[in-house]
Amino acid sequence: MNFSLKTYNRLLEALKAQRYDFLTFSQYVRKRSAGELLPEKLVILRHDVDKRAKNSTDISNIEYSQRIKATYFYRAWILNEPAELLKVKELGHEIGYHYEDLVTAHGDASLGIEYFEQNLKSLRLLASVTTICMHGSPKSKYDSKDLWKTADYHRFGIEGEPYFDMDLEDVCYLTDTGGCWDGYRFSVRDKMPPKYQRQWEANGWKYHTTEALIRAVEAGTFPPHAMLTTHPERWTDNVPLLCWNQTVQTAKNLIKYLLIRLRKQA
Ligand SMILES: [Zn+2]
Repeated sequence: MNFSLKTYNRLLEALKAQRYDFLTFSQYVRKRSAGELLPEKLVILRHDVDKRAKNSTDISNIEYSQRIKATYFYRAWILNEPAELLKVKELGHEIGYHYEDLVTAHGDASLGIEYFEQNLKSLRLLASVTTICMHGSPKSKYDSKDLWKTADYHRFGIEGEPYFDMDLEDVCYLTDTGGCWDGYRFSVRDKMPPKYQRQWEANGWKYHTTEALIRAVEAGTFPPHAMLTTHPERWTDNVPLLCWNQTVQTAKNLIKYLLIRLRKQA
């Protein structure tokens, strides 16, 4: 089962057995900006909580039982039902903001910044937040990262944003977007520049299933430094839900693929 919690647990076990260290995203950013040496083998576990916050809590419990800390980026809707976020925070994981304020503001940058500041302030009443990460909003024509064309997130006490603050020459980026680990061709925004994607592929760091990823870790061919992004709503031991997710994902990939092609033609 590609995205079952049992498989996720096995992935963590494999990484630990191969002596990978785990840093939260803020720990990585701090080490990098201080010029400190990174662990020889490093994984940053990033979770984009788009929906179903309960699934994130399930994942966070697995990590906690393995004494691993990860980073959870929550969208602003969590402010209306913060109970699951608080559980994840209690386990010592990092809480970040999964922002989409330029989309919410329909492209109005100054209104977007206003929303961003309000949401960040409210989130900080629940947890200390020093990192942010863009939510892709594939259906929108606006890219929330563009908020930072005219503003600087450091001004809000934010230390890092994965799309700007990772050394991609050093850290390989892998995401479950598209329902597989090599679905970047279906991804509208959750992907890194093609230059790096080609480098990683040339190194053989391209995996379709979680099983393939585990095998690479066990074989010692997995990248020494990687960020693994998951969308916890996909991860469950509920078999009917896993099947449903797969069906929806196939349809979504087709739509996203067409969107990407249409935008290229426009
Ligand atoms: Zn997202």
